[in-house]
Amino acid sequence: MNNDICSKIRFYRDQLPPEGILVAVSKTKPAEMIRVAYDCPHRDFGENKVQEMKAKHEVLPADIRWHMIGHLQTNKVKYIAPFVWLVHSVDREKILREIDKQAAKHGRVIPVLFQLKIAREETKFGLTEADYEALLDAYEEGRFPHVRLTGLMGMASLTDDTEQIRREFRGLRRKYEALQNRFPGIRYLSMGMTGDYRLALDEGANIIRIGSGIFGARDYGH
Ligand SMILES: *Cc1c(COP(=O)(O)O)cnc(C)c1O
Repeated sequence: MNNDICSKIRFYRDQLPPEGILVAVSKTKPAEMIRVAYDCPHRDFGENKVQEMKAKHEVLPADIRWHMIGHLQTNKVKYIAPFVWLVHSVDREKILREIDKQAAKHGRVIPVLFQLKIAREETKFGLTEADYEALLDAYEEGRFPHVRLTGLMGMASLTDDTEQIRREFRGLRRKYEALQNRFPGIRYLSMGMTGDYRLALDEGANIIRIGSGIFGARDYGH
């Protein structure tokens, strides 16, 4: 199994642009499996639930870079604020305010991505165009001094229509480039999962989030 996980990690990392990051999405998988990937070596892991990330953080090496990729509840931010490396899933002002507040308590500046709604489905989280613009204005006013915006994240529609997926990724790429022209330090475009990472890389992603492609299928319901 070691060889398997390590060769899969290598397979994805080999396709990244220089400075690109492979987030190995370890949600629902046991800490022992993360340890195997850690020893490959690999350092970037993604989780979508606060309690699970916190529990794994406590039993695994401290130099792991933990990526929060799931929808966050405000009352739980405090549990990951001391250590989270990058929050990909800022999808409303309230959560940005809470991350800022908790980061301040720990004397940190937490790097974040704004998650934009790019999929057609109604169920996907993410900022709408209008909310995104409003949040950028608030950020520019300096209202979140303990948060550093470093880029954008998006999830494409779950569809076999590759042109549709491409269009969604391309739209996010354009917003990313506009953001780079507006703020310093914008360097991450997080898009692409196991099913669509290749399209995402073609459209300019420099962070991909791969779960089942590395660790195998998850149980139904996740
Ligand atoms: C689960 C998850 C992934 C990884 O999904 P796979 O299809 O297993 O690669 C990526 N991004 C987010 C936000 C997720 O929740």
